[in-house]
Amino acid sequence: MADGPPIRLLPRLDAENRFFWESGADGQLRFLRCPSCGRYAHPPVPRCPYCLAPGLAPEPVSGRGTLHSLTVNHQQWIPGSEPYVVALVEIAEQADIRLTTNLVGCELSEARVGMPVKVVFEHVEDVWLPLFEPAPAPEPASEGLPAAPGSAESAEPAGSPEEGRER
Ligand SMILES: [Zn+2]
Repeated sequence: MADGPPIRLLPRLDAENRFFWESGADGQLRFLRCPSCGRYAHPPVPRCPYCLAPGLAPEPVSGRGTLHSLTVNHQQWIPGSEPYVVALVEIAEQADIRLTTNLVGCELSEARVGMPVKVVFEHVEDVWLPLFEPAPAPEPASEGLPAAPGSAESAEPAGSPEEGRER
């Protein structure tokens, strides 16, 4: 069972990022959201990167997401430590908001790109680290929302011996 690295380096809190690292105190993940265009922005910035409006404020999100990419760390930075998953998680609300985090509560062999995940917080000193664990697949066709672009089937594996040969 992968549960993340044995020792964590904690973020340095400042006025801009404190809300993010303390957000898990009430069990909710938050990102800055633009009051003008409604998009989320991360890491914290003073102006919206999409429409340049000021006044972004933290807003809670569902905590659900998709494993966009992953790698398994086997290097024993601490002698005797177990392998763990470094994950890139795309949040459900906005595909270009991605967190570099750890996948926890999951067998290494079960970690798959595209798997649904949900946030869990690890409280260490004065921060709540947002980690992710496997989640049940979301309900299909909830309220008729359109499918997110780019979330369809992944591309065919490269280097297939049968097809895709260059001429
Ligand atoms: Zn905006």
